[in-house]
Amino acid sequence: MPPAVPRRAPSSRRAPASLRGRTVREAPEVPPRADKEPLDIEVVLARVRESIRGFADAAMFELAARGHTSLFEQLVGCILSIRTRDEVTLPVALRLLSQARTPEAMRSLGPERIHTLIRPVTFPEPKAQTLHAIAVRTVEEFGGELPCDADVLQSFKGVGPKCAHLALGIACGQARISVDIHVHRVTNRWGYVRARTPEQTLAALEEKLPRAHWVELNRLLVPFGKHVCTGTQPRCSTCPVLSMCQQVGVRQPR
Ligand code: SF4
Repeated sequence: MPPAVPRRAPSSRRAPASLRGRTVREAPEVPPRADKEPLDIEVVLARVRESIRGFADAAMFELAARGHTSLFEQLVGCILSIRTRDEVTLPVALRLLSQARTPEAMRSLGPERIHTLIRPVTFPEPKAQTLHAIAVRTVEEFGGELPCDADVLQSFKGVGPKCAHLALGIACGQARISVDIHVHRVTNRWGYVRARTPEQTLAALEEKLPRAHWVELNRLLVPFGKHVCTGTQPRCSTCPVLSMCQQVGVRQPR
């Protein structure tokens, strides 16, 4: 399924909540390598898009492709995915959502039954409590339907910008960037941003990445980060963006 077309981003130019009021310390300046072409983000993303053909879609996009497109379902999927491999997240999310697709149904399941259904993911017990609490609050405060509002989503315990933005981007069509470990690592290796933390990477990307790519970035860089620009020994010698990548911090390329 193509990424949702961004319609609006009500607070997209604001610093992430975690950074507001703080001084952001950038990562140290790295002199650009003379043997590299200037990075053209449109060219880079086009090459990445091509290179990930054939790899499995990131879990949340795969859930959407299978019809789980509501904000609640996307948020549930993202919470399950925290510190859990997509290969585990996807079947567990499908199993849980087959029993409860709505906040009302999730509330009725109860935390113990949710725990049983999601046991293969990491931290199943606290995640079950979180999912049940979100369902209860959604029913009681929002009439059973989550609003497309980042502040509301991030007011739930256990929901940060990564999950809130991904769910809002896919389910609500908002222009949002979701920075997970892959997006953080890859964009910093490119030298496109210089940031010490995912939160700083989010703020930097919101400043310079064309808005048309905000939702798509996560969809592209999760499989690219898993299969090409891997955490250790990235596959630089066969990487399609080698000529424009500064390879910041890369010590053992393959
Ligand atoms: S050239 Fe290497 S460091 Fe740069 S994106 Fe490709 S795999 Fe990653």
